[in-house]
Amino acid sequence: MRVSITGATGFIGRRLVQKLLSDNHKVCVLTRSRAKAQLVFPVNNFPEIVIAEEAEWKQCIHSSNAVVNLAGLPISTRWSPEIKKEIKHSRINTTSKVVDLINNGSTDLRPSVLVSATAIGYYGTSETTVFDEKSPSGNDYLSEVCRDWEAKALEVDNGVRLVLIRIGVVLGKDGGALAKMIPLFMMFAGGPLGSGRQWFSWIHLDDLVNLIYEALRNPSYKGVINGTAPHPVKLSEMCEQLGQVVGRPSWLPVPEFALKAVLGEGASVVLEGQRVLPLKAQKLGFSYKYPYVKDALRAIMRES
Ligand code: NDP
Repeated sequence: MRVSITGATGFIGRRLVQKLLSDNHKVCVLTRSRAKAQLVFPVNNFPEIVIAEEAEWKQCIHSSNAVVNLAGLPISTRWSPEIKKEIKHSRINTTSKVVDLINNGSTDLRPSVLVSATAIGYYGTSETTVFDEKSPSGNDYLSEVCRDWEAKALEVDNGVRLVLIRIGVVLGKDGGALAKMIPLFMMFAGGPLGSGRQWFSWIHLDDLVNLIYEALRNPSYKGVINGTAPHPVKLSEMCEQLGQVVGRPSWLPVPEFALKAVLGEGASVVLEGQRVLPLKAQKLGFSYKYPYVKDALRAIMRES
C-alpha cells in the first residue's frame, strides 16, 4: 500500500510512518517544509520515503492507495484570538486541500480511503456524562473546531471510504501532553491536577497508530471511531499512576497554574476532561495492547 500522510512529521505521524515502513508499505510525507521533513526523516535512515511540499501533494495523493490527514497547529499554546483562528484554520485548510485533491482526481487515480484525525474535544467536557460515537457535539471552542474539521473531511466523495478518528489524549514518551507533564511531576510530587475529579480519556501512541493502520486496511472501519483506550480514568488516578511510575509520591498537588504554564489554554483538555468510550473500535474487534493506563505508563517509561 502507498500512503500519503499530512502531519507525518509530528508526534503521531512519526510513529505511524515507522509502522508503515516496517510492514513494507510506501510512504509519502505531505509537509509544508521539505527542510523540516528531511530533518525528521533523514535520507540515510529513510531512503524509501518520498517528501512532498504542497505543490507536489497532488502527484503523491493521486498515486496513493490511502491518505492519512493529521496536520494541525498544536493546541497546547497560549490561545490568543490569532492562535485560536490558526488552530482552526490549519486543520480546516489542510483537510480542504486534501479532500479537493482526492475529489479532483479521476476515479482510477483516487485513493480508496481517507483516515482523518479529529479529537474527543468534539464532545465538550463533563464530569458525569459518558460519551460514545453517537453522542452529540459540545458547545465550546474545541467542539466547534472538531465539528468544522470533521465537516470538511465529510466533503470527500462517496466512493472514498472515510474514517474519522476522534483522538483522545495520546500518551507517548517523545511528545504530546505526557512529555510536558512528566517534568512537572518531577518538579512537584505527582499529586493530582486541579480537583482530580475530571475524566482523562487517553490512548497509548502504539494503540492509536495500530488503530489508524487497521482503519487503512480494513473496509469495515467506516465513519467516526473514538481513538481512546477502553478504560478512561479520573485525573486523580492518572496522576497517582504517573506519580508511581516516575517515582514521586502523590501528596503534593501539581498546581493548575504550572500545568497551564506548560500546556497553555490547551490544558483545558486535561483540566476539564471528558469520559469517552471507544464502543466502535471494540465492536470492530480492535485489540488494545494497553487497555489500562498503568501498563501504558510503565511501557512508556521503559522506552529508551
Ligand atoms: P503535532 O503537533 O506533533 O504534529 C502536527 C503536524 O501538523 C506537524 O508536524 C506539522 O507538519 C503540521 N502542522 C503544524 N502546524 C501547522 C499549521 N499551522 N498548518 C498546517 N499544518 C501544520 O501533532 P500530533 O502528532 O500530536 O497530532 C496529530 C493530529 O492529531 C493533530 O491534528 C492533533 O490535533 C490531533 N490530536 C492529537 C492528540 C494528541 O494527544 N497528540 C489528541 C487529539 C487530537 P509539517 O510541518 O510537516 O507540515
